Amino acid sequence: MKSLRYLENVVTLALDEDKCVGCGICTQVCPHGVLVLRNRKAQIVDLHGCMECGACANNCPTSALAVTPGVGCASYIIQSWIKGKENSSCGSQGCC
Ligand code: SF4
Ligand code: SF4
Repeated sequence: MKSLRYLENVVTLALDEDKCVGCGICTQVCPHGVLVLRNRKAQIVDLHGCMECGACANNCPTSALAVTPGVGCASYIIQSWIKGKENSSCGSQGCC
């Protein structure tokens, strides 16, 4: 999804291609098309489209994906500036 962007250079999503067995589950559960399957391996094609929902990492059978939910959530970050971290939430299920 190119129309909804998040803050650059804060996304925590990481992929260990050596652990990937090419099942494709991450590409099916990602709501933003961040991941694609190429040559039987997942690849990150839109890192800054990642909303850090955690769905890919939670569903990966080999723990090839890692993400810290909510760290790159722009809404959360802006709220934390205004209200402090303890009073902030992005409102997305499974996110901060
Ligand atoms: S869910 Fe995990 S093992 Fe499956 S394609 Fe994605 S990264 Fe690879
Ligand atoms: S954390 Fe969510 S948005 Fe980011 S790549 Fe995984 S499924 Fe997609």
